[in-house]
Amino acid sequence: MPSPQRLAVLQTIQQRQPVATAPIQKLDELWASDVFSLAKMKAALPKDIFKSVQRTVKEGGKLDVSVANVVAQAMKDWAVSRGALYFSHVFYPLTNSTAEKHDGFISVQGDGSTISEFTGKLLVQGEPDGSSFPNGGIRSTFEARGYTAWDITSPAFLMETPNGVTLCIPTVFISWTGEALDKKTPLLRSNGAVNQQAQRLLKLLGNTEVAPVNSSCGAEQEYFLVDSAFVPLRPDLLLAGRSLFGAPSAKGQQFDDHYFGAIPQRVQVFMQDVEHQMYKLGIPAKTRHNEVAPGQFEIAPFFEAANVATDHQQLTMTLLKSTARRHGMNCLLHEKPFAGINGSGKHVNWSVGNATQGNLLDPGSTPHDNLQFLIFCGAVIRGVHLYGPLLRAVVATAGNDHRLGANEAPPAIISVYLGSQLEDVFNQIKEGDLKGSASGGLMQLGVDTLPEFPKDPGDRNRTSPFAFTGNRFEFRAVGSNQSVAGPLVALNTILADSLGYIADQLEPKLAAGETLEAASFAVLKQIMQDHGAVVFGGDGYSSEWHRMAVEERGLENLRTTAEALPVLRRPEVRDLFARHGVLTSVELESRYEVYAEQYILAIEVEAKLALQIARTQIYPVALRYLADLAGSLQLQSSMGLSLSPETFQQVADYVQQLNDACGQLQAALDSTPHGTEVHLRHSADCIVPLMDQLRAAVDGLEALVDDNLWPLPTYQEMLFIR
Ligand code: ADP
Ligand code: MG
Repeated sequence: MPSPQRLAVLQTIQQRQPVATAPIQKLDELWASDVFSLAKMKAALPKDIFKSVQRTVKEGGKLDVSVANVVAQAMKDWAVSRGALYFSHVFYPLTNSTAEKHDGFISVQGDGSTISEFTGKLLVQGEPDGSSFPNGGIRSTFEARGYTAWDITSPAFLMETPNGVTLCIPTVFISWTGEALDKKTPLLRSNGAVNQQAQRLLKLLGNTEVAPVNSSCGAEQEYFLVDSAFVPLRPDLLLAGRSLFGAPSAKGQQFDDHYFGAIPQRVQVFMQDVEHQMYKLGIPAKTRHNEVAPGQFEIAPFFEAANVATDHQQLTMTLLKSTARRHGMNCLLHEKPFAGINGSGKHVNWSVGNATQGNLLDPGSTPHDNLQFLIFCGAVIRGVHLYGPLLRAVVATAGNDHRLGANEAPPAIISVYLGSQLEDVFNQIKEGDLKGSASGGLMQLGVDTLPEFPKDPGDRNRTSPFAFTGNRFEFRAVGSNQSVAGPLVALNTILADSLGYIADQLEPKLAAGETLEAASFAVLKQIMQDHGAVVFGGDGYSSEWHRMAVEERGLENLRTTAEALPVLRRPEVRDLFARHGVLTSVELESRYEVYAEQYILAIEVEAKLALQIARTQIYPVALRYLADLAGSLQLQSSMGLSLSPETFQQVADYVQQLNDACGQLQAALDSTPHGTEVHLRHSADCIVPLMDQLRAAVDGLEALVDDNLWPLPTYQEMLFIR
């Protein structure tokens, strides 16, 4: 029988009913109803003003003050008509979370009356007192303020709470000296870099009309749900977002009965609530299903422009968490909430394209499209080979370290999966002899058309961190709790770099009179010879690959965040970002400092929490159980029985192990070294293994100690939401 406090929780849960919210069911009534969309602006604004807004949205840049004033007025009128009393500049600091500063529309007049006021200046520029956001030392305290400015490419929207409505304005967050303090600014800059280099290349490839090129993203979000009644009894879930202790449940995911199974009704009702809110915010939720682990689920939207997709992804995470609470559940976005079963990732599907040439990673149906496709694909291959460690660094967090390389998620070695047909085409290019495609048919680059590359899951290689999936790449190493901005910035920038490289190679060849086909072929061949080592179609989980990747192909295996983050300080990475105007070296250095600090702090919090739980909850219970056992052993022997003291001995051993691990962990926490890089190492190489030792003792005890005494809800209890 579970302990009384656990039993009480289980009884509460048994009474739970699905929480119906009776929302509107019609898509056209719901869709973007809470968004100040271009359509709403068109209806509300004078023609010339709207045109000016449209132009700025398309080309980027800042709104003219006179235009901003008119837009602000219309936006406020709309928001106020919907009941808003406040507005908020929403921004995306370096913490992976979303931040908000709220201000009232209220303005008190001389006679004591009030009016609602909102000017163009308030729309395009706010001044949050952001001095306590991590900035990696960019701003010294005397100039601690940063300011926020509306990113006009991301529309304003309304956030509704039971007690009111707030107008939310997506913004960039920059220091007074112009340095990016957020994740949005570099994303916008990286889109600019892709556009610049893609324009150049597309023109060299003979396109006369080239619309602005932008990146797109569709991010699949995995998450866990646990009943919120468990949380007060699990301080680790509350503070660390994951369980620091817990013996495996007898039933885990071994039956594969949860994956794509019928969604429990309580969960489906929750999902529908989330989706309705998403639709109102103009976020195109598209798929929902159970994931592999019990208690694990996934939501994915239809893809959008990367910048908007990123804002929407942040909102999705916020909505998942806030809505879960309404349904008596906690949504865990941590990458590894439970040991021994799958963790959660965020597959970032990414492509680039424009209105004139379409998706540039789509093979297309004409020879010219094919050539273009192969060049863009070749550019990605080059970028991932040159900057694989950077791609590892942008997914480096304390949570994601539990996942990468753990035989459920891709390894920490970054390689590219192309699928057998496309890999074959590129291998032929490398050999300088492109004759046929794997599907048969003769093919000459630029003359024939490429075979259709399968988009179906049959040709998926789930063990690859970076896979071509028919018309896009899927970056699978991203953590479930992360902002997608960092990965997108890296992808866009390495692509821009490679597109620029290819343009540099093509220009003199074409000027010397080579045909486009011959010149492109030569460049692609060179790329494959220099960078083909990153293409890998086999089993990424196998130890053979881990050996081969490092020893034969020269790829890096950066196992922990402590190894991966310092990549941000490498000269070639600094030059890459500076060269394309995405991040200055000061901005990059500050990011390194902030992410390193977050890693160190995350581990420190977990370690302190583990100590606290082990000392104040587990140790006393284990001692009580030992006393119980000792008492009954004594009783038995006084009755002439001689039962084996084996359990007593095992429990005593674990208690000893627990004490030892606590002592060592405390000592490690008390002796943190100075200097960011050594501190990172100390966390990864010293503190984390000691936490594992402590966990082994606690989990060992859980399997032995009287269930009636055990204080922590078990995996078995928490993982099966019904
Ligand atoms: P799977 O689980 O099979 O990978 P999902 O349907 O769960 O597929 O998710 C695929 C994601 O990829 C969706 O968000 C989808 O909109 C997105 N996507 C599809 N095409 C593109 C594209 N060209 N560029 C970016 N994202 C895309
Ligand atoms: Mg998926």
